[in-house]
Amino acid sequence: ATPTALLVGTGRGAQLGVLIKGPEALESTRRVDTVVLDKTGTVTTGRMTLLDVTPAAGEQRAEVLRLAAALESGSEHPVARAVVTGAAEVGDLPPVTGFANVEGLGVTGTVDGRQVLLGRPRLLRERDLVVPDDLARAATDAEAAGRTAVLVGWDGRARGMLAVADQVKPTSREAVRRLRALGLTPVLLTGDNTTVARSVAAEVGIDEVIAEVLPAEKVDVVARLQAEGRAVAMVGDGVNDAAALAQADLGLAMGTGTDVAIEASDLTLVRDDLLAAVDAIRLARSTLGTIK
Ligand code: ADP
Ligand code: MG
Repeated sequence: ATPTALLVGTGRGAQLGVLIKGPEALESTRRVDTVVLDKTGTVTTGRMTLLDVTPAAGEQRAEVLRLAAALESGSEHPVARAVVTGAAEVGDLPPVTGFANVEGLGVTGTVDGRQVLLGRPRLLRERDLVVPDDLARAATDAEAAGRTAVLVGWDGRARGMLAVADQVKPTSREAVRRLRALGLTPVLLTGDNTTVARSVAAEVGIDEVIAEVLPAEKVDVVARLQAEGRAVAMVGDGVNDAAALAQADLGLAMGTGTDVAIEASDLTLVRDDLLAAVDAIRLARSTLGTIK
């Protein structure tokens, strides 16, 4: 059967905008004490905006933006969308060959005959590009302001810093408060940098933050929490959340998220809103008493 065919909306669930895959999916809900929340697209809108482009000394801002946007045209990542949208002013973008996604770190490809690398500062350093002090400082300052900073570079050097920002969904703070009221401990999980993660966590009232986690490691984080004896619900939306959603005792996917995330989950939240996750957990708890 297709995953969609497996979706069973109970009457009350359908009303609340929660699709349940099957009653056995709810079995573990009674024990859940921890709710792991993905940051981008779950706690935040995931619709990022390009706020700032800082060229390194001797570089042209327009050229930095042109090469960055050309490369990001091949990516679906929220950072990529922000860069491409923010580069409308530079006009037509050159084609990219040999495009590759470096999971959780950035992207690479050839533009105008140059091998361009864009992503977390860690990615450029790992590939032996020199990161000049002015750019490193610009990135740290942007992160201190709660922004996500990525670097773009070619020919052995980082050439520019791009700062993007996301927004917390208006209901996320109230949702976290209600999760706590249900006796659940919220944990923020993200591949983004620790400073940004802490600022989002503070904004919504979360104390426990696990940041700079590569997509393949998210599942290990959930497993580690389980090994500590915690029963974990996970809420996520991305391809990079799928394995963790499947590993969790209860997986909840944002309906606006990717198909892979939805397929890996027990519950799908039709509303693009974290309050739906609270309703779903409440519903799952109360449904347990009535089924079978
Ligand atoms: P999250 O857990 O918040 O969904 P990801 O694991 O998708 O984050 O990405 C982690 C970080 O890797 C991003 O914050 C960004 O710095 C970098 N990154 C990943 N993909 C891209 C991309 N296409 N362009 C720029 N940066 C990227
Ligand atoms: Mg996400």
